[in-house]
Amino acid sequence: MQYYLKKIENKFSIKITKWDVGMNIVDKFMLSREVVIKEGEIKMDKQRVIILPIDFIGLYTLKFNNKQLAPKLYESMKSGMIDYSVPIGKEYGLSYRDYLDRWVKYCAFGGWGIVSYKLVETDGIPHGIVEIKGLPLHMYLKSKGITEASSDPLFDGLIAGSLSTTFKTNIDIIEAKCICAGDESCIYYWGNKEYLIKNFPRLAAKRFGDIK
Ligand SMILES: [Zn+2]
Repeated sequence: MQYYLKKIENKFSIKITKWDVGMNIVDKFMLSREVVIKEGEIKMDKQRVIILPIDFIGLYTLKFNNKQLAPKLYESMKSGMIDYSVPIGKEYGLSYRDYLDRWVKYCAFGGWGIVSYKLVETDGIPHGIVEIKGLPLHMYLKSKGITEASSDPLFDGLIAGSLSTTFKTNIDIIEAKCICAGDESCIYYWGNKEYLIKNFPRLAAKRFGDIK
């Protein structure tokens, strides 16, 4: 990870921002009523959520892991996340840092792993990297024989939608390192489509391949 940070720091001379996910996320969410749990109902930000074994999300992701369907699932998840996120941002009046902070904490609270962001801005255009440690969906994919990064259009789409909402522009994401491929953590590059195609042509072709 240090290598990638150093590399991208040198390339763009950026300011790196990292949020501490804290140690008492569950207590904080329950106290603030952002997460409400009662019999037969769980709500986060006033919307219903469910607890589902990761195997079922993994099966769904595997089903779409081919070059015809993967870009479609990615776009679908991305637009779904934007539809989900925009009203929350408006209701709480979140700044982009508040929003990312919340997203990182929800990932930790919801069992999706430990997320950190590195933000970059070149000529006013945001891009950067995301690292996720212990992403359970990718652990599942690895256990089913997946050995490549960028094999998960579902979660990738959710991150892209979240970042697009945050920066109020069309952001896409590709995964360059993955625990599926034996890497220590999952590392994503994000930015606008042109940026990704220019800087990561092979991975971008996999991401955008069949989108018309
Ligand atoms: Zn991964």
